[in-house]
Amino acid sequence: MGKVISVALPKGGVGKTTTAVNLAASFAVAEKRVLVIDLDTSGAAGISLGFNNTNRHPGVFDIFSYTRSIEQCTQPTDLPLLDFVPMNPLSPVDEDRMNRMSENKMLLHHSLIPVKGTYDYIIFDCPPYARGLMAAAIVASDTVLIPAKSGHLTLDAIDKLFDYFKWIGLFTNKPVRIEGIVRTMHEPRTKVGLRTDHDLCEKYSSLVLKTIIPKNSTLSESSYYGKPAIIYNANSKGSIAYLALAQELMNKDGYI
Ligand code: ATP
Ligand code: MG
Repeated sequence: MGKVISVALPKGGVGKTTTAVNLAASFAVAEKRVLVIDLDTSGAAGISLGFNNTNRHPGVFDIFSYTRSIEQCTQPTDLPLLDFVPMNPLSPVDEDRMNRMSENKMLLHHSLIPVKGTYDYIIFDCPPYARGLMAAAIVASDTVLIPAKSGHLTLDAIDKLFDYFKWIGLFTNKPVRIEGIVRTMHEPRTKVGLRTDHDLCEKYSSLVLKTIIPKNSTLSESSYYGKPAIIYNANSKGSIAYLALAQELMNKDGYI
């Protein structure tokens, strides 16, 4: 059965989408079958994978409207083992409907059942707020991977996320499991970078993953050109770091 991982932190611009897409691509390069599901109405994961946002692919909105199954919304990508379920481009009215429909927290969990056997990893790219689609993703996930961008306010956001998990745990009657905290856009030579890294490791030492994702221009460039970094520039520090992250997680899962 595939492992379902939410990439989540209710804070904007911390590297959720970059991590979801590049971790998924790295799993696929390591011969794991992977499905990425875009749960952010900005559709950024789709853009990073080269999907044109104006195309009317069926997507997550259709799943929540009960008009399509996950299989019917799944698209192949440039990587043979990596599939993708897009977020539909939504009008403001549909976005409102999406928010209301996403209050149904069990729907995503149930709709994954037919595809869980098809993939080794299913990865949700979550929106930057803690309600609706993010809550549905956490309920449907086995674990949560938290991207922590080097800089202030990250620790506050993680503390709040853990409070939120307590509430979700009450709803599902099981504790939310953490895959790990991955340091993203890491800048070791800045004072803030060093300080936040120190605080994070002190407070959450057992959860902080070994792999560090450096700040690296290839990661933003590749997403702009609609390609995972491993395809755009396999030798870049960014793509090598996401390969290492995939190896670290596969190692924990007993694949290596
Ligand atoms: P949002 O909350 O808006 O969904 P996010 O948490 O998904 O944002 P990303 O979109 O992954 O964050 O990253 C924010 C910006 O930082 C993007 O422009 C992305 O290309 C860039 N970026 C992400 N990771 C890195 C990195 N390691 N090095 C350099 N740029 C990065
Ligand atoms: Mg994002």
